[in-house]
Amino acid sequence: MGGKIDHKVNSGRGLYVYRIHGQNYHLAGSLIPEEGESPKCHMVNSSSNPYAIEFTTVHEIQGLLDAINPLVKKFRMARDIFAMNEREPIPIKLIGSSDKDGRTHNLPTADEVAAIIVGDVDEDGYRTDMYHRGVDLSSEPGHNNLTIREFFAYRVQARVGEVSLILLSRKLLQQFIVDAYTMVENTRLNYIRNNQKILRVTPYSNLYDAQENGHQEVSDIGNRVILLASFTGGARYLQQNYLDAMAIIRAYGHPDLFITFTCNPKWPKILIFLSEDNLNPEDMPDIICRVFKIKLDALMHKFKREKTFGKLLGDLYRKEFQKRGLQHAHIWLFLDKKDKVLSPDDIDNFITAEIPNKDTDPELYSIVSEFMIHGPCGPKHSTRPCMTKQEFCSKHFPKDFIEETHFDGAGYPRYKSCQDGTLFLTTRN
Ligand SMILES: [Zn+2]
Repeated sequence: MGGKIDHKVNSGRGLYVYRIHGQNYHLAGSLIPEEGESPKCHMVNSSSNPYAIEFTTVHEIQGLLDAINPLVKKFRMARDIFAMNEREPIPIKLIGSSDKDGRTHNLPTADEVAAIIVGDVDEDGYRTDMYHRGVDLSSEPGHNNLTIREFFAYRVQARVGEVSLILLSRKLLQQFIVDAYTMVENTRLNYIRNNQKILRVTPYSNLYDAQENGHQEVSDIGNRVILLASFTGGARYLQQNYLDAMAIIRAYGHPDLFITFTCNPKWPKILIFLSEDNLNPEDMPDIICRVFKIKLDALMHKFKREKTFGKLLGDLYRKEFQKRGLQHAHIWLFLDKKDKVLSPDDIDNFITAEIPNKDTDPELYSIVSEFMIHGPCGPKHSTRPCMTKQEFCSKHFPKDFIEETHFDGAGYPRYKSCQDGTLFLTTRN
């Protein structure tokens, strides 16, 4: 596996993250086998074999590939150099990095060929002609092929009575998932690129638009590919979701509650899995993501059905991955008129900025003191990430004590935080 691995993300403390930049690519085996090793590229050649290679056909294909495929040209070049000096190792980088263009989903041009070799040669990898089990191909129309996403989704499940080498591979599991995902995404991009007509994307006049955008050399303009709104993470996808959110705001007004729901790798549900196989949280991103989604769904269900904050007119959330790969979600809730949060008393009912009492509410106290305390920071802790050069906390800690909840001049709520012994010690550190 190639790709530019981002090591910076693992500086400092925290979970290990496998992250790549730019285009992912795979390395093919050696052109000529090493001494004593079997060749990585096989050829069938026997007169009794009905699948034997027809040399004239191969010749024709070879000529065609030579003429149009830039990848083949590079291989041939390498072979010629190899023929001159057999001892010299020749690295061929199949795909140039897409450094020169920062746009997210640029497909490689002819000069930066994308080649994807799926799975290891001797392993049971994915092929495009795999079908779903138990499907009668002659009678069932539609979606019968196993997609590459389904293939990997199957591979990353734990099953009773089966030891999965992949799931126990720790950091390699992260690499495997990143690798798999780039292949899935590439397949989707290829599908979109090859089916622009069927997908009814808005017609563009490429040459005209290119000239409009100031391209002088119209001859090197390729075909423009329009990503659909259903392509997760694409520009149209984000735009459409943004417009949907704005439509909700137009109908129901500004959201009443903004809630951040974070993922905790110490959730008991996660710890069960960790202890079973003696793994660390970073070794099972799959479990962490699933538990997070289950809990997020349960929370949203609580808001909607159990009406925690009253009747909801609308709700929105956006999930994000933090730098360390843990998820969090930002949630917006739109409350019914009669349940709106208007007075300081309403706010005190829902929100507290105070540390709970250790004696009367020990459970909440332990949760808040473990996960929701900022710092320590301040001049004595100047290396903390929140500390700016001027020796101040960028998050404005420690905050002032406030006697009563009220709205400030700009209409933002200021939450009650009374000065008492515990609070003083913890927030001032
Ligand atoms: Zn701070």
